[in-house]
Amino acid sequence: MMRIFSSVPVFMILTAVVGLFGAAVWLNAQSAPSISTIIPTEVIPTDDPQAWQRILREGFGSNSTPLPTIALPQETFAPPTLVPSDSNQVPIGPAQTGNDQRPTLNPASTPTLANPSTLIASNAIPVVTEQFVTRPPSEWQPPALVPPVSRDPLGRDHYWLARPVDSSARNFEIYDYPYGSDGPPQQTPWRIHHGIDMPNPIGQTVRSAGSGVVLWAGPDFQNTFSYGNVVFIQHDFGYRGQPIYTLYAHLSAVLVTQGSIVNIDDPIGLIGNTGRVSGPHVHFEVRVGGDRYGDTYNPVLWMVPYVGHGTIAGLVTNARGTPLQDQTITIRDRRNGLVVRSTTSYIYLDNASDVNSDPLWQENFASGDIPVGRYEVITTIDGLRVSRIVDVIEGVTSFVELTPLEAATAQPEATTVP
Ligand SMILES: [Zn+2]
Repeated sequence: MMRIFSSVPVFMILTAVVGLFGAAVWLNAQSAPSISTIIPTEVIPTDDPQAWQRILREGFGSNSTPLPTIALPQETFAPPTLVPSDSNQVPIGPAQTGNDQRPTLNPASTPTLANPSTLIASNAIPVVTEQFVTRPPSEWQPPALVPPVSRDPLGRDHYWLARPVDSSARNFEIYDYPYGSDGPPQQTPWRIHHGIDMPNPIGQTVRSAGSGVVLWAGPDFQNTFSYGNVVFIQHDFGYRGQPIYTLYAHLSAVLVTQGSIVNIDDPIGLIGNTGRVSGPHVHFEVRVGGDRYGDTYNPVLWMVPYVGHGTIAGLVTNARGTPLQDQTITIRDRRNGLVVRSTTSYIYLDNASDVNSDPLWQENFASGDIPVGRYEVITTIDGLRVSRIVDVIEGVTSFVELTPLEAATAQPEATTVP
């Protein structure tokens, strides 16, 4: 009897507790969304645009920290002025002619320490400031592939070097003064080109094409006045067990010293017109196996192509297989018949300082930065039109052989191109 009597209130209390708890949970869940909408605001909206200034002026009270004073800009923003590209297209090329103007080489000499005082060019504009954007964005080049690139199935390609100038500037070669040529046909012959030229305004950044150590930074590189201020880098990678060097000439200022360790794309100098030039540009060379003037190779076969672009290289010979020099080669787009490039084959002077063919490609002409597509490569040999069809693939060298025999048999459809 006692057990039943005492269990009734306990049961009622438990029921009440559970019921209240459930009600509290339910109410809490139901009321939560509405709470945010009933927070009273004491801020009265005002249309007075000066209200915040008045608050700042009058302050928040005697104990408040004084607000810092900020000078507001008084002038409207003006975008940076871009230099029209045409103003920079100064014809580049040495004013001199003949072999007597070729760089004087002293085979016994080795690079010596550059005087630190030559860090800034003495014969150029006194103050050279670095420029980052010098061409309208519409004229910027595509981004280059990331070196090293070697996609040739037979391993012949060695696009291991970056471009020495940014894509916002002119970082491609002057096409009518390619490696191994003596300049435009109508001009008095220039010095046989041992590099490629990229004209740009003075002050444009020049960057290391690869990692390595600076062997020279200043004028009189290998007793060559015509190069002006030079940065010469030996890279920390080699080609078939041989050293690779890059050279950057005519700089208005050099930003490194001899012995500096540089990485790829490091700023090493500024575009200038020191030495023997007719306009500001960087003369870019690749030397392999040796550091001399006669150790250069075509930079177009070492510098990474742009995204979506490749290189056409080839060997043009007569019917007996003898390489033809200074031979004009035209590259025509098969889709629309338009000529996209004209170049010339290497000229040899039969001395120790001649330009070189790649040890694997054995080319005597090469032209880079050709958009991916199908092209006809054309020349005229002994009055006979010789042409080959070639496909350009991204990041790859497409090789063609141009001989009179091939023209007569292999490519009859070429004559149907508009
Ligand atoms: Zn040059």
